[in-house]
Amino acid sequence: MSASKVSIALVLPDLLGTYGDFGNAVVLEKRMAWRGIPAEIVTIRFGEPVPDSCDIYVVGGGEDTAQTLAVRHLRDHPGMQRAAARGAVILGVCAGIQIFGEHFTRADQVTHPGLGLIDSTSHAGGSRAIGEVIATPADGLFEGLLTGFENHQGRTVLGPSARPLAHVKVGTGNDGSVEGAVQGRILCTYLHGPVLPRNPQLADLLIEWATGTKPAPLDLPAVTQLRAERARAAGI
Ligand code: GLN
Repeated sequence: MSASKVSIALVLPDLLGTYGDFGNAVVLEKRMAWRGIPAEIVTIRFGEPVPDSCDIYVVGGGEDTAQTLAVRHLRDHPGMQRAAARGAVILGVCAGIQIFGEHFTRADQVTHPGLGLIDSTSHAGGSRAIGEVIATPADGLFEGLLTGFENHQGRTVLGPSARPLAHVKVGTGNDGSVEGAVQGRILCTYLHGPVLPRNPQLADLLIEWATGTKPAPLDLPAVTQLRAERARAAGI
């Protein structure tokens, strides 16, 4: 932790924030507050510099044009990349996983450089992947099933330095087989929902990485109910 409060950077929610992805930052802040860990959300909008001092960075989804604007801004203001180099925790969702890679090719076949934070490339698939996703954790990284909602045309190929977050049971994820990526303390997923309210075990993993301490269990019946309902919706 860099200061008395854990700072959560909500990065470009005005460009990358489909399906209420800002909720990921809210969940991190609340789950820390409920354990007595002071935390604050620092919102960074398009046009503003990106600080390199935050503990956690949260990047959401967005369509191709928005994500191209966002990647240009983040390359021009490389605070998050500097934070990554010193081990800050970073969550990237959907467009996030695509811009974190080496490069991405949009549906119009134009290729753009990414941020080079993870060993991956993305390209447009032949069809959009839309619907509920269920995936099992890779390498025992977290407990329980990963659930979420996907809506993307991009497909992502991981290189040897990145490992999958999960293995797809229902839906598409990166390529119909694996879902998301983990490289150091950077965690990426295609899943909206937002993903952290639906997968509190992932939120707690990020909190553990940021604070160095496994957070105490939290029993929230509404979350259990939501997860059961969404798993039924996915046919599990
Ligand atoms: N523009 C990207 C795609 O369609 C990401 C979409 C999203 O973030 N929901 O693949």
